[in-house]
Amino acid sequence: MALFKKKKKYIRINPYHKEDVKKHPTPDVPHEMFTKCPTCKQFIYARDLGAVKICPHCFYNFRLSAFERLQLTVDEGEFIEWDADMKIQDPLNFPGYKEKLAKAKANTGLEEAVITGIAKILRYKTALAIMDSNFIMASMGTTLGEKITHLFEKATQLSLPVVIFTASGGARMQEGILSLMQMAKISAAVKRHSNKHLLYITVLTDPTTGGVTASFAMEGDIILAEPQSIVGFAGRRVIEQTMKTKLPDNFQKSEFLKEHGFIDVICSRGELPEKIATILKIHQKQER
Ligand SMILES: [Zn+2]
Repeated sequence: MALFKKKKKYIRINPYHKEDVKKHPTPDVPHEMFTKCPTCKQFIYARDLGAVKICPHCFYNFRLSAFERLQLTVDEGEFIEWDADMKIQDPLNFPGYKEKLAKAKANTGLEEAVITGIAKILRYKTALAIMDSNFIMASMGTTLGEKITHLFEKATQLSLPVVIFTASGGARMQEGILSLMQMAKISAAVKRHSNKHLLYITVLTDPTTGGVTASFAMEGDIILAEPQSIVGFAGRRVIEQTMKTKLPDNFQKSEFLKEHGFIDVICSRGELPEKIATILKIHQKQER
């Protein structure tokens, strides 16, 4: 039985031996095939992540693009975009900003770090905004501020609730003080929407920080969050250095914030559309 006697050949490669490496180069694995979880540091076969992109080991919810989020959240064919042609300005003529914008646009296919519009989530109509951290870390500039303000104004006019998926690194430094002004501008629009007794739901995703957390992300009537998302204002290291103290490991994680009363519900990505639809259903205006 020659078949069973045949010994398997193992090739031992010494990575420090140049000739060995040349003879047996590392197989060319496509970059997208494996991805590393930023939380548990495990390598994951991309197919195991699925469309919802949740780590199978620690259940970390990977960052999604605005289009991926749209696909997961909104009923098929039930999204009409608003202000798609609103272009980003460079009010300060900031060095390198135009190039950075061109790169972000090419990489994401977006015109700005947020898409807004009217949508149906499991048949419930709502005004919707989705921020995309792949676009200059979804920093808040004048156009992003204007799009979100306009979303609230239109929703107020149409008596619609607002749902926003937040993600941001904070204010956009390339637009200076004008970025910070968006915080007050959006907050005023949120208040006018609220004065009409309309519902506002925020869904905090990883990461939601800086001026966005300090304004509209935390102004929702109901605040949902994805598991293990970083939510905060200043960075952890800055706080540690200023306070001269060691912060707990889960500091600025959504679970920590829920424990301290900043978040109402932490909801896994797969269950989010149902959770949002239930809240919309409870709060929908009764016809009299
Ligand atoms: Zn993980």
